[in-house]
Amino acid sequence: MEKSSKKRGRPMLWVLTAILTLGVLAAAAYFTVFHINHFSLELVLTGEPKVLLEYGDSYTEPGVTPVLRGTMFLKDGYTPGNLEIRRETDLNEGKLGKYTITYCAEWLNCQASAQREIRVIDTEAPTITLTEDPEGSLEEGVIYQEAGFTATDNYDGDITDRVVRTEEPGLVTYAVTDSSGNPAVAKRKIPMRDMVLPEILLEGGEDYVITLGTRYEEPGFTATDNVDGDVTAMVQVEGEVDWLTAGTYPITYTVADSCENTAVVTRNVEVVTQPWQDTVYPEGKVVYLTFDDGPSAYTEQLLDVLDDYGAKATFFVVGSGSGRMMKQIVNRGHSIGIHSVSHDYGQIYSSPEAYFDDLMRMQSIIYDNTGVKTTLMRFPGGSSNLVSRKSCEGIMTFLTQAVQDAGFQYFDWNVYSGDAGETKKTEKVVDNVIEGIEQHRVSIVLQHDIHSYSVDAVEDILRWGKRNGYRFLALSPDSPGFHHDLNN
Ligand code: ZN
Repeated sequence: MEKSSKKRGRPMLWVLTAILTLGVLAAAAYFTVFHINHFSLELVLTGEPKVLLEYGDSYTEPGVTPVLRGTMFLKDGYTPGNLEIRRETDLNEGKLGKYTITYCAEWLNCQASAQREIRVIDTEAPTITLTEDPEGSLEEGVIYQEAGFTATDNYDGDITDRVVRTEEPGLVTYAVTDSSGNPAVAKRKIPMRDMVLPEILLEGGEDYVITLGTRYEEPGFTATDNVDGDVTAMVQVEGEVDWLTAGTYPITYTVADSCENTAVVTRNVEVVTQPWQDTVYPEGKVVYLTFDDGPSAYTEQLLDVLDDYGAKATFFVVGSGSGRMMKQIVNRGHSIGIHSVSHDYGQIYSSPEAYFDDLMRMQSIIYDNTGVKTTLMRFPGGSSNLVSRKSCEGIMTFLTQAVQDAGFQYFDWNVYSGDAGETKKTEKVVDNVIEGIEQHRVSIVLQHDIHSYSVDAVEDILRWGKRNGYRFLALSPDSPGFHHDLNN
């Protein structure tokens, strides 16, 4: 009986125990899940939380990963599948600024969010474009005329009006900054152009006159440039003057400065002729005694004889002659004329220039000794000489004209004494001269006062001449020249 009562009480215990156990378990599970196991949902950003996006580039979403944290049942970091992630943003790629992307997700009452900051920035500098200057360079002292420029920015667009321009000699600087502070600078170099030509100053002027026969010597010049200074040494002189032929000869002077400004100046050298001397024949019977190749040791004696007879003569002197005697000749009232410095046929007749050099030198020697600038002259060998043909064909034809164009009067002779080799006898010289004089009303007698036998003949000639009514005169520029027929 007891057994049966016991058996009756057992099911009751079992049910009670089961209910109690289930209750404890449920409470434990609830406690575990909702109180001890605080799991959460997290959104993990892929990529940087702060993104700099260059203006013009497109934002590429790197994404977020939802992960579970703190669950006892799932591995930490578990990513629930098919979880919808909402993405909210105010991002405007077309405008610089700071933007936020907000990511949100929910899972089993868990909510998660994450944020990413996007900055749309502009780091690209503006571009300054300079209009090419057609001039290329700038004239000295002139204000630069801006050829033009533009400035554009990838974000701001045309920012030309924001360009700050600064000008200094030879350089214009253009600076601009875009709204993001990106600077740009452009420089325009302006080569300073010197437009000012050098200045050539001609000493003696641009119209320069010389007398035929006067060797043209450069009268001189200077050239200065506003930048280069003295450029005289760089002057190119071109042109030639034929100083033995009348005419106008341009001489050009050219100089360029370092900027290739070229100045050209022309000097017109005019070679002018002197009027030819009109010949005046003297009245009555006249003898012009002429003595070549001196003065010599016999000249003083000759001058004395001439004085004794009140006669005047003409001396065509040479370079080796005594200057003191030249002075005596002049002082005692005779005429002095040019013969030659060297009396070297080969040299003086080698060219017209050589002849004139000799002629002018002799004129100068005479002038230095006597103060007389004589224009009387006699060609060595006379104008009819043949010897010059060996040196220069046709030179006498040229010279006989040229010396007269140069203002000289040349004298040949119509009476030859024969004292230059034909005879050395005084009597013969006297005879030759008297015979010659007799044939002319007006005579020019050629003798050489370097020969004593010829000088000794003069007294007899004078005596005879005086007795026969001749006047012995010195040549003057208008005296008859008795020019020979030319042979060369
Ligand atoms: Zn001579």
